[in-house]
Amino acid sequence: MKASSGGPCDTKGETTVTVGVVLHREGDRGARAPLVNDMEPKLSRLLEDVRRSGGPVLALTGAGISAESGIPTFRGRDGYWVVGSRNYMPQEMATHEMFCRAPEEVWRWYLYRFGACKHAQPNEGHRALVALDRGLGERFHLVTQNIDGLHQRAGATPARTSCIHGDAAYVRCAGPCDGKLPLPDMGSRDAGTPFTAVDRARLSCPRCGGWLRPHVLWFDEYYDEENYRMQTALRVASRAELLLVVGTSGATNLPMQIGEIAFRRGIAMVDVNPEENPFSELCEASERGFFARGSACERLPDIVRALTS
Ligand code: NAD
Repeated sequence: MKASSGGPCDTKGETTVTVGVVLHREGDRGARAPLVNDMEPKLSRLLEDVRRSGGPVLALTGAGISAESGIPTFRGRDGYWVVGSRNYMPQEMATHEMFCRAPEEVWRWYLYRFGACKHAQPNEGHRALVALDRGLGERFHLVTQNIDGLHQRAGATPARTSCIHGDAAYVRCAGPCDGKLPLPDMGSRDAGTPFTAVDRARLSCPRCGGWLRPHVLWFDEYYDEENYRMQTALRVASRAELLLVVGTSGATNLPMQIGEIAFRRGIAMVDVNPEENPFSELCEASERGFFARGSACERLPDIVRALTS
C-alpha cells in the first residue's frame, strides 16, 4: 500500500519545513568543534537533561555519517553518472522512470555504488551510535536514510533500526511478486564494467522471470511501512525526547517531517553536520536545539558519552 507522503526528493511539497523566524544566537552559531571533553555548555545541558529524564532517543542519519568511511554523498562533486555523452545526477538515475527506460544502466550505476559500500568500513560515528543503542536499549531507535549497511555492520540492533530508504544488501521483484531477497553475488565492478547476459540472469526474479530491482526507495516513489517503515519512523518521532540528526542535508521528505515533529513538540534537538542545513536552522530556532557543527566522527563519541555515562 502506498503511503500518503510525497517521495524522498519532494522538498517543494506540503511537508517542506519553513521556519518562520530563525534565531541566530550570538556565540552558538557556527561554533567550531570543541576539544574533546570540552563540550559547549548549552549542548552539555541539553544532553544532561535527556540523560536524567530517561526518555526515548531518536537518531536520524544521512549520507554524511558514511562520508568518513569513504562513501560519497549525493550532493558531493562526484555524484553524477555518465551515459553516452550525458551526465546524469543521482536524482535522475535513482528513479522508477529511469529503471523502466534503461534497467541495465540503472543496475550498472547501483552495482558500482554498492561496490563502494561493500568495501567501506564503519567509522567512529557508526560505532558511537551502536554504543548509544546498547546503552539505552529499548529507549533508542535509529532511522537511517543510508542504504550502505554500515550501521548494521557496526552492530546496530535490527529491531531498533529503520532503513527508510531501503538497504543495498537486498533486491525485490520489480513486478508483482512479494518479498525481499539477498542481492546476488555480482562480482567486483567499477564504473566501466559492462552489463552482461549473466548479470541479467542473476537479476531475474526467481518466480516470474522479470527484473529484480534494488531494494531502495527511488526519488519518484512513495514511502510506505512495508518496505520503508514510514509509520514506525513517525511513531518514534512522536514519542522521542531527543532527536539527534547526523549528516543529512534535509532534501528528502520523511526526514524533514521528523524534524518538523520534533520542532513542534519542543523536544531536545541536536544536529551534527559540518555545514548549515535545514535541521541546523530548526535547532537554532528551537529553545531546546543545538547545532553541533563538525563531522560525525568528531562530534558523536562525546555526545554519546554524555547521554550514557
Ligand atoms: P546528502 O548527500 O544530501 O547530504 C549529506 C549531508 O552530510 C550534507 O548536509 C553534508 O554537509 C553532511 N556531511 C558531509 N560530511 C559529513 C560528515 N563527515 N559528518 C557529518 N555530516 C557530513 O545526503 P542525505 O541527506 O542522506 O540524502 C541523500 C539521499 O541519498 C538519501 O536518500 C540517501 O538514502 C541516499 N544516499 C545514501 C548513501 C549511503 O547509503 N551512504 C550515500 C549517498 C546517498
